[in-house]
Amino acid sequence: MNLRRFRLIGAACAATVLLTPITPAQNHGGDKVDLAALTRIKNEAFQHSQVMENLFYISEVYGPRVNNSRNHRAAAEWAMQQMKTWGLQNVHLEKWGPFGDGWQIKKYYGALESPAYASLIGFPLAWTPGTNGPITAEAILAPLHSEADFAQYKGKLKGKIVLIFDPRELSLHSEAEAHRLTDEEVAARAKTPDPSHTGFGGRPGTDAPRPGEYTPSTLTTAAPSGRLLRNQVNSFLHEEGVAVALTPGYNGDGGTVFATFGGSQDPKDPVGPPMAAITPEQYNRICRLLQHGITPKLTFDIETEYQKDDPMGFNVIGEIPGTTKSDEVVMVGGHFDSWQGGTGATDNGTGSAVAMEAVRILATLHQPMARTVRVALWGGEEEGLFGSLAYVQKHFAPRDTMKKTPEYDKLDVYFNDDSGSGKFRAVSALGNAELAAIFQSWIAPIKDLGLETVVGLTAGPTTQPGGTDSTSFSWIGLDGIGFMQDPLEYGSRTHHSNMDLYDRVQKGDVMQGSMIEAWFAYNAATRTEMLPRIETPAPSAK
Ligand SMILES: [Zn+2]
Repeated sequence: MNLRRFRLIGAACAATVLLTPITPAQNHGGDKVDLAALTRIKNEAFQHSQVMENLFYISEVYGPRVNNSRNHRAAAEWAMQQMKTWGLQNVHLEKWGPFGDGWQIKKYYGALESPAYASLIGFPLAWTPGTNGPITAEAILAPLHSEADFAQYKGKLKGKIVLIFDPRELSLHSEAEAHRLTDEEVAARAKTPDPSHTGFGGRPGTDAPRPGEYTPSTLTTAAPSGRLLRNQVNSFLHEEGVAVALTPGYNGDGGTVFATFGGSQDPKDPVGPPMAAITPEQYNRICRLLQHGITPKLTFDIETEYQKDDPMGFNVIGEIPGTTKSDEVVMVGGHFDSWQGGTGATDNGTGSAVAMEAVRILATLHQPMARTVRVALWGGEEEGLFGSLAYVQKHFAPRDTMKKTPEYDKLDVYFNDDSGSGKFRAVSALGNAELAAIFQSWIAPIKDLGLETVVGLTAGPTTQPGGTDSTSFSWIGLDGIGFMQDPLEYGSRTHHSNMDLYDRVQKGDVMQGSMIEAWFAYNAATRTEMLPRIETPAPSAK
């Protein structure tokens, strides 16, 4: 038992006397949960849900929320207003950064003019400029696989609309686009993988391109090697006087285009030509015409806006103050920023709407909670978890020194939602057996809702933050908890695509997620002790 646990248990004994009516007794295997509170939370979540209304405003009214863009700021103002309406306290924007420029699309038109007209489904890549009015020009295929390819195209691209990647091979979709996990799949994922194969803390490798290799995925990776190559390509295309650069996106077909950025929020990085992603079928058509000796003409009219008035990023924060231990904090949240192709409905309008709905449920019920429940809607997640990384290191501990602030010991847990619209099917325990037992007791009375089990019963420490904002917390030894969700169409249709839209969100699923997030936050905020912690990492080696 470390000192922190000892001190907390001492504090908890005193609190138990005061709070007996609302704090259930606990046993070693888990918590005895408050079923009356559960009933009230369920009723509010399922009979008076506002989660789709939240989502409607976030996605359909404010639109895509590229970090620091005007849309993003306007949506944040709306979110703060909603939180105040629900009675949350200490509602504010908390700045971090600098991040750099905001950016958003003002106009997109793309068409094949000859040999036969077709409108081109697509959208501009983030942090790329506009065309200054309509441009009609010849297409040219100039696949740039690496810096070595620049020489062969030098002097040949001026004024052209350049297809900068190879055509993409497409195949028949013979399986359903959407998938719900079967009970067997959920159970299988709860099993600890053979540690001799993965190593504790072993993470699945990303499919990021190898350093120096320029692929459509280079236009979506935040890795420094990807950024370096993007900068090289953008400088080359700019110097060559390219009119527009085109990509078929890094994923998707059948009208769905997956693409993120082409340039950089950092005003010091080189700005390339206007860039757009179009559907791979249409991209391939242009390539085939060229391969047959027919030079198509294309028109693009693109207007984008770099927003340079405030380079600081921001997180949206609001609280329900605790009754007797208000300095101890339970957090829920998700990232509020998105990409620009759709409206960021499932990435991460849903996680934001769910977190807002969870705190609305708890605020509306006025069910006493000893600890403060704080909601955070992070910024800059898509470019590298910037908002949550800044927050945890300012409030709790800078990762390099691990010099803890007084708040470090008061942060109970953070629950994150950022895997699309799908139902919560399991909760992660970060390799902590005590935490797993507690979560099992919380999910026991709600298994009918589809949240069946605890995953990650054996897991290593989070050595690098990545994937989503919960890892910013677990990276410094705090309980940053994520839920395993039904994938639905996240990978096949919506994640970073032009089809990341409201109608792809499943209402019953996000109602379930909101109810569960409220229930988990309630349990954490009312149990006698704070939750057991994962291991505190050592300061980083210099
Ligand atoms: Zn996301």
